[in-house]
Amino acid sequence: QTHFIFHSLQAKMSRPVQARRLEGIDKNIWVEFVKLAATYSKVNLGQGFPDFPAPDFLREALTRALSGGNHMLHQYTRAFGHPPLVKVLAQFFEKLLGRDLDPMTNVMVTVGAYQALFCCFQALVDEGDEVIIIEPFFDCYEPMVKMAGGTPVFVPLRLNPPKDGKLMSSADWQLDPAELASKFSERTKAIVLNSPNNPLGKVFGRGELGLIAELCVKHDVLCISDEVYEWLVYDGKQHIRIASLQGMWERTVTIGSAGKTFSATGWKVGWVVGPDRLLQHLRTVHQNSVYHCATIAQEAVAQGFQRELMLYGKPESYFVQLPKELQQKRDWLVQSLDGVGMKPIIPEGTYFLVADISPFKSDVPDVPNSDEPYDSTFAKWMVKNKGLAAIPLSAFYSEAHKNNYTNFIRFCFAKEEATLKAASDILQKWKQEKTSS
Ligand code: PMP
Repeated sequence: QTHFIFHSLQAKMSRPVQARRLEGIDKNIWVEFVKLAATYSKVNLGQGFPDFPAPDFLREALTRALSGGNHMLHQYTRAFGHPPLVKVLAQFFEKLLGRDLDPMTNVMVTVGAYQALFCCFQALVDEGDEVIIIEPFFDCYEPMVKMAGGTPVFVPLRLNPPKDGKLMSSADWQLDPAELASKFSERTKAIVLNSPNNPLGKVFGRGELGLIAELCVKHDVLCISDEVYEWLVYDGKQHIRIASLQGMWERTVTIGSAGKTFSATGWKVGWVVGPDRLLQHLRTVHQNSVYHCATIAQEAVAQGFQRELMLYGKPESYFVQLPKELQQKRDWLVQSLDGVGMKPIIPEGTYFLVADISPFKSDVPDVPNSDEPYDSTFAKWMVKNKGLAAIPLSAFYSEAHKNNYTNFIRFCFAKEEATLKAASDILQKWKQEKTSS
């Protein structure tokens, strides 16, 4: 009798448990590389987070929220965003976008920009819809489109290397207008724009944004604009918000992140700003999934924004100071990589810089008959043998295009000077060992 029951239980367990929408998206570069970095790295320039402290005013705001008199900050708040936070975000983005915003309908707070993206794809993309993604891209866009039943359509940034022997810049990676136009059709529901772009650090200029906007309007396509690095722009360049271009407000959802904005990635506070006609559907996804983001973190981020609103454009503003500091770190890492021959592509924005590994390739054998792109093999070898963690550029390409760029790895320079120096020491030592062997 027991034997029979056991058999019938086993038979039941042979049924597939995985939902079809998860097919082919089970691998995740971050899970893999975060584990490798935790196991082997002495210096971690892989995942994008600062190892310097979040600003005092933000930490103090959290302490006040935690131990101040308002015990309701430990309870649920409004699902679509803690009122003080949506109010100040509306005030801030009114300035940036040059239009009136209703905090209750034009802003929604999410669990990091990640959940904002998830809400966008779930709310706006249907079975069979196409979504244009510009390569290289923050890797989660592709599985998120697929989970929604959509089909990603990729368009690459094309590299036009400088002819004068100068270092490459992220601005040398550009959209081909005809190629971009060819991807739009009646099946296209949305395009994902990420400016400043992870991983290259490219800051899209008015020309390219205008082209995207024109195509969106012409084909009635939505724009999911991931602007988490909006304040991290260097060399006096200006970040242009596509939602501010003609015809774009009504079709654009703009995504931001307190993690990147205030150097507190672990807080996981993000937001979307956009027209109610789009946000009402994001609210439906949000209220039926996570419902809301930690009240106390939202309260502290609200106070951070209130401070920044008061200091807007002034030298004491964190949004003025942080890019200055990061630009110095960028320049330092650029010089040190150039010094060892790992040619960097100078980023115009973000936490990241991509560098050419060619001179170091002879030390790292390719794995014969492997599907793994060479840069990934290289990055794994480097963390295991040299203790330096970075992310292969191919991780930011679709399966079909992964092998087009296998000579680059991405470093995060949002790090303490000592961390950058330790990374540079590892590379210098490696270079010396190469020249002496
Ligand atoms: N978009 C981009 C381009 C990112 O680089 C990141 C974080 N690495 C996110 C979204 C996610 O941001 P958050 O940590 O706020 O969820």
